[in-house]
Parts: sequence; C-alpha cells; structure tokens
Amino acid sequence: MVDVYKGGLLEDKVVLITGASSGIGAAAAFVFAREGASVVLAARREERLTALTAELNGKGFRASSVVCDVTRAEDVRRAVAHATERFGGFDGAFNNAGIGGDQTPLHEMEDEVYDSIFDTNVRGLWNCLRAEIGAMLADGGGAIVNNSSVGGLVAISAAAPYVASKHAVAGLTRAAADEYARLGIRVNAVAPGPTRSEITLGWFARNPGLEETIEAATSQKRTAAPEEVAEAAAWLLSDRSSYVTGVVMPVDGGYLNH
Ligand code: NDP
Repeated sequence: MVDVYKGGLLEDKVVLITGASSGIGAAAAFVFAREGASVVLAARREERLTALTAELNGKGFRASSVVCDVTRAEDVRRAVAHATERFGGFDGAFNNAGIGGDQTPLHEMEDEVYDSIFDTNVRGLWNCLRAEIGAMLADGGGAIVNNSSVGGLVAISAAAPYVASKHAVAGLTRAAADEYARLGIRVNAVAPGPTRSEITLGWFARNPGLEETIEAATSQKRTAAPEEVAEAAAWLLSDRSSYVTGVVMPVDGGYLNH
C-alpha cells in the first residue's frame, strides 16, 4: 500500500537532500516523500544512505541515494545528475549538510577548525547552489531551501566560525534569491533553533547544563524534533510558498523572539 496522499505539498517533484544520512536531513527524506516527492539522499556515509533508502522504498515511496561530499564540486554535480537521470527532472533541493563546532575562545582556535567548518557549511553550499541552479535553469525553474541556523541570524554559544558560516548561508540565500527570482527559481533558508540530532546530542553531552539553558531561553521550553524543521522546509520547497523568496525563516520555538 503506497502511503502517499494526493495533493501532497511536493507531489511529482524531484528533490535532492544533502546531509540526508542523519538528523534533520534523514527526517526530511521521510517528510518530503510523504508529501509526494521523489527524494535523492546525499551524504558521505553510504551504509546509512542505503538503509534509509531501502526503508523509504519499502514503504512505497520513491527514493534513491548517492554518496556525496559537498566540499567537492564534482561530487555535487554527480548527485544532481543522478537525481535528474534517476527521476527525470530536478525541481528542488534541501541544502542541509553541515557540521557544528563547540564554542572555544576564538583567539585560541586552530585554522583547521575554521577551514573544516567553512569548507562544509559555506563552500559546500556554494558547490550545491551552482550545480542545482544550473540543472533547474535547464528544467524550467525550481525551489531551493538552505539550512542556516538561529546562529545565522544572531550569535549563539557555538564556535565563532560556525556562527559566521551560518550567516554566510543566509547571505548566499539572499543573493541567489534576488539573482534568480526572474528565472523561476526561489531560494529560501530555514534557521532552526536547537534540534535533537547528532550535532546537538554530542554538543549537549560535552557541555553539561547547556540543554537546560537553551530550553529556558526558548518560548516553547523545549528543543525541536528534526521533523519539525523538515516540515517547514517542505512548505518552502512547495508551490504553496510561491511568493516567498530570499527569506531566512526561524524554526525555533520562539528562541529568537524570547
Ligand atoms: P547531523 O549531524 O545529524 O547531520 C549532519 C548531516 O550533514 C549528516 O547527514 C552528515 O552526513 C552531513 N554532512 C556533514 N558533512 C558533509 C559533507 N562534507 N558532505 C556531505 N554531507 C555532509 O546534524 P543536524 O541534522 O542537526 O544538521 C543538519 C543541518 O542543520 C546542519 O547544517 C546544521 O548546521 C543545521 N542546524 C542544526 C541545528 C540543530 O540544533 N541540530 C540547529 C541549526 C542548524 P555524513 O557524515 O554521512 O556525510
């Protein structure tokens, strides 16, 4: 029994998800598929991708996976080509791959920390945007959602390069949205607050008391389930948000408003 209802937000769309092997990206694969999309899961950990794709296809959804390191432009081009060839089009992308970093004094931080965060979170997105926009222009337009963070809008207690990288995600979102609006491509971002995933569970484990402090600073007094971020991304990828572009949308339980 295929568990896809008619009128899903992403009916008949082909959507690439980077960072789909865990957390928000894996949740997005299920949410987008439930909304009618054919999903292509991209990340570095092949076994996880294979297991998630098998689970999705086993439920009657349409899913495929491709091993992809977003820091490598060639990998991203291959992932976009895989999506187009496998499902016959390219309508949407959730550029979600990213790495975090603990807050340590900025002046003592090694270059390697800066390099790895910027290579993944900023160059990775740069690589994705170029490949995806090229494919969308050839396919009549599309929608892109990038994953920034509340740390892309204000300072948070994470590594300074992480905060800066997520501000860069917001900047690339706004620049690309303005540049390609006339060509039928919308570009938005979600800015999640603390969400229960591998990044945050490790972060909370290394910093006792941090989770409670963050919950107290959030209007809803809780962290998010990854699916709650994915739901917002699904709407931004869908035609139902057709007049929304260049937005960096907090999905934060009221964290920024508190
Ligand atoms: P996870 O660690 O669970 O997911 C991160 C994903 O990114 C993994 O699938 C990982 O897969 C992938 N990834 C990392 N580096 C690369 C790379 N070089 N190439 C391809 N894929 C890569 O954490 P989250 O789900 O929380 O994180 C997803 C996004 O959400 C990130 O951009 C993060 O900054 C953002 N975010 C998260 C928040 C939170 O509280 N959790 C809050 C705000 C933003 P693999 O290792 O297999 O490559």
